[in-house]
Amino acid sequence: MWKFLLPDFYVKDIFQIDFEYLKQKSIKAILIDLDNTLLPWNSCEIDDQLIEWIRRGREEGFKFCIVSNNRAHRIKTCSEKLGIPAVTGAFKPGKRVFLKGMEITGTSVKETAFVGDQLFTDVLGAKRLGMMVILVRPISDREFFWTKIIRLLERKLINLMERKGLLKKF
Ligand SMILES: [Mg+2]
Repeated sequence: MWKFLLPDFYVKDIFQIDFEYLKQKSIKAILIDLDNTLLPWNSCEIDDQLIEWIRRGREEGFKFCIVSNNRAHRIKTCSEKLGIPAVTGAFKPGKRVFLKGMEITGTSVKETAFVGDQLFTDVLGAKRLGMMVILVRPISDREFFWTKIIRLLERKLINLMERKGLLKKF
């Protein structure tokens, strides 16, 4: 039952991701969700901590690619500001966008990790393909109305996973 919804890691935010560990596991690229994972929902304000995180990731040899379900125009603006390519018109958990992301980074499923904040889009989509998945807590509680509804169920599942001791940190 947990198979496609259980992330490999569950951390507070992207800054908790252990680049060293990923390298040990032969991960070469990080596909990453935008809203409430990299940036607060519907925002393109980038702070120094984020810039530094991306710089460090690149220095460690990782390629990055944004995979987002949000509007193409905004993703393009953020993608340019961050200097990271993006797959637009995404429909997670559909497999196509994940495959497109890996086409951009030039990596295989086993060489790619996905980072996102939602179980039913990010985790489900990436796990179906067999990628390593890192779930982060959403940056803010501002988001689409329907996402808020889905969060109620998501919260329940995450609590249950936590109680069963299934969620790992680095
Ligand atoms: Mg998100």
